Amino acid sequence: MKRPDEFRDVQALAEFANLDNNNHDPLDRRNFENFRNNYPEFVPQAWWDYRPTDSERKPLANNQWELNQEMLREAWENQFAIGMFDLLRLLTSVFDPNDLTDVAVFPSLGHRPMFATMAEIADPCPYQNAVLYLREHPWQAKVCENCHCYIVVRVAKTRLCDKDECGNSIREINHRASKLRSYHRNKARRKKRSKSR
Ligand SMILES: [Zn+2]
Repeated sequence: MKRPDEFRDVQALAEFANLDNNNHDPLDRRNFENFRNNYPEFVPQAWWDYRPTDSERKPLANNQWELNQEMLREAWENQFAIGMFDLLRLLTSVFDPNDLTDVAVFPSLGHRPMFATMAEIADPCPYQNAVLYLREHPWQAKVCENCHCYIVVRVAKTRLCDKDECGNSIREINHRASKLRSYHRNKARRKKRSKSR
């Protein structure tokens, strides 16, 4: 089924890619708690608190969402020109931990996997739909050339995010480019004039 709010999902995915685990500012969009509240349906809520274990069943240093975010950023930087295995890693590392057999049925074993099996993922959530969308429309995944944040664009030539400082920087670049063009035009004219003399 085609979702009417597909673009909203990919925008949320870009916001997710920009989250910073060290940001605890209650007003900042990069604070993951804010994102979690703003997009309660984007991923299963219990996923945010999940931390996988290594092969010796020791908890890893990072939360699941940070590990997933790392893979997502890599895909984004490659404009989603990723292979099937990288795609699968992205898709199967987002799940409801309570749907995992190891977590729900055999919790005493202490094994908390980083990837779900296909049987353990019930329905795709907006996160997964957004990843699939960008794999089909990779040109829409960009990194702002000024502040290097992850963005999705509707127009292929967009190079900057919509933050004020980045908008101003493109105006400045355009201004400088047009000044440079008129400088070269005048220089060419001066040359012509001195030759005709
Ligand atoms: Zn920017």
